[in-house]
Amino acid sequence: MNFDFQHCIRCTICVENCPVFRVNPDFPGPKQSGPDSQRFRCDGETSVDQWIGLCSQCKRCEVACPYGVNPAEIILREQLNYGKKHFRAPVSRLFSNVYYLGNLTSLLAPLANKLVSVKFVRRIMAFFGISEYLNFPPYRFHAMERSWPWKGSSKRARKVAFFYGCYLNYNRPDIGRKIRDLFASMGFRVILPRQVCCGLPALGNGDLATARRLANRNAAILAQYIDRGYDVLYACTSCGLMLTRDYPGMLDIEAGKKIAENTYNIHEYILKLLDEGLLDLNFKAVAAKIAYHIPCHLRALGIGYPAARLLERIPGLDIAVLDDMCCGLAGTYGFKKKNQETSFKLGVIAAQALKETAADCIMADCGACRLQLSQLSGMPARDPAEILFESLNNVVNSSKR
Ligand code: SF4
Ligand code: SF4
Repeated sequence: MNFDFQHCIRCTICVENCPVFRVNPDFPGPKQSGPDSQRFRCDGETSVDQWIGLCSQCKRCEVACPYGVNPAEIILREQLNYGKKHFRAPVSRLFSNVYYLGNLTSLLAPLANKLVSVKFVRRIMAFFGISEYLNFPPYRFHAMERSWPWKGSSKRARKVAFFYGCYLNYNRPDIGRKIRDLFASMGFRVILPRQVCCGLPALGNGDLATARRLANRNAAILAQYIDRGYDVLYACTSCGLMLTRDYPGMLDIEAGKKIAENTYNIHEYILKLLDEGLLDLNFKAVAAKIAYHIPCHLRALGIGYPAARLLERIPGLDIAVLDDMCCGLAGTYGFKKKNQETSFKLGVIAAQALKETAADCIMADCGACRLQLSQLSGMPARDPAEILFESLNNVVNSSKR
């Protein structure tokens, strides 16, 4: 048993920072679900706290706690424990395996996209526990995994392996290819390593075995690249949190520490090279006002807001940073009917704040945040890499494959 909970002094700062507690009266918040209840839990005993599944794993409580207690991790461990008996509804099983689902949906993309937009089909999905308020993001046949797997000569000194994750893979491969081509144009050898889902959806749906299996497959490949002198890059902040924190931590993956030490957010990586004088970029003006929604998992990474720091070098760009709201979707959490109301309420609060900035568009590093906030605000949403690409497109051309 992890004894971190004993450091809790019951200050309730985490409760103040919990978005789910704010809108869902059935959830007692991180203090009670985490350290308070942990005092009465025993190893090997299954929790009877049904509300344990209401936590979205946004990790805001952990960022807020001044005493180093990790309420979200205590709750996650209990979700997994609880999951053995109670947390395995068909919808959770489905979302645990969302990678395989994405694989199939991408192959059947035009047909699958049409099907999930039909009302009758949505009703059937709702019967099986899938929420109805959000449109599914379209899947693309030309996924990242079917894109050209490398760019730049193998003789180049700087080498990066890009972990693009499921969202860029199946839903927005155009952004993934821009990132690949951007790094190639900056003089890197870029590899798109063979990869599967980072494992986060499985972990968040109570399926530790699947999360470990996926993580082990990724770790084996990424570790080989690291041994050959590659740094690993990620764009999705939730994938980044898995690779750098949960692989060596919760999942206890053999090469986890090596991966964590050699893995970087793409913007963090570019900034590091600029700061070290190893890169010289000529930013072209982009005239736009942008409302930057900071994803919860970017805050949890503890690397600051590198995209904001990088993009502030672009002339003409006006960025308003909003970092005190959760979008509410939290990956597959908001796609479950039982969380629909919570997810929707949080999304509406965040969308309203974004609209009040009167910006031209929303920006967020996380595809799920963009999906939720764009649909609820009616504003277009972009990945920071798209704006970076636009500014640097005088030197970069993206290819279709
Ligand atoms: S977990 Fe941390 S923030 Fe929450 S009540 Fe305990 S000490 Fe305070
Ligand atoms: S992870 Fe997020 S939803 Fe869960 S208890 Fe912490 S702040 Fe609340």
